[in-house]
Amino acid sequence: LRMQRVSPSEVVDMTLQLLRHRLDSCGVEIRRDADSPLPEVDADPEQLKEVLVNLIVNACDAMQDGGLITIEETMGNVGGREHMAVITVSDNGPGIPPSVRDEIFRPFFSTKEEGTGLGLSIANRIMTEHGGWIHLKSSGRKGTTFLLALPHKETSQ
Ligand code: ADP
Ligand code: MG
Repeated sequence: LRMQRVSPSEVVDMTLQLLRHRLDSCGVEIRRDADSPLPEVDADPEQLKEVLVNLIVNACDAMQDGGLITIEETMGNVGGREHMAVITVSDNGPGIPPSVRDEIFRPFFSTKEEGTGLGLSIANRIMTEHGGWIHLKSSGRKGTTFLLALPHKETSQ
């Protein structure tokens, strides 16, 4: 990892820039929802970008006829850990069937004809290497939300 001080919000900006054409062609709208930009964390921006690309492309794939992707950014306590920078990526696609929810982070698991099944397993590895995590926050008929958490400060020694 090439760690540096980066604002996760800026990495979101860069990712959306990078995916602009793809987002246009799948006809989705993006909504950003942040009270204020997230404070800087120690992270590898290229790797974080890859995580976000994987989530956003999956959201596009899930919404063939257009839809809305909402990206929210907050600071707070999550999963019993304080000072986490949290990014959620939500879509209003058809959701992930309960029967496969336990499989989605497994390498090569895909429900797509041409899927590699690697996007979420790579995202999971990258987040873990950053001392954070990714999880499926919710999924149902109204859509899917993935949550990314990154440590903002090392908690007391
Ligand atoms: P791939 O995109 O190549 O199939 P991923 O690891 O990125 O592999 O995703 C694994 C599977 O998880 C997908 O095939 C799909 O079934 C499911 N999935 C991931 N994100 C979403 C989403 N936003 N909506 C619906 N299903 C999803
Ligand atoms: Mg994928």
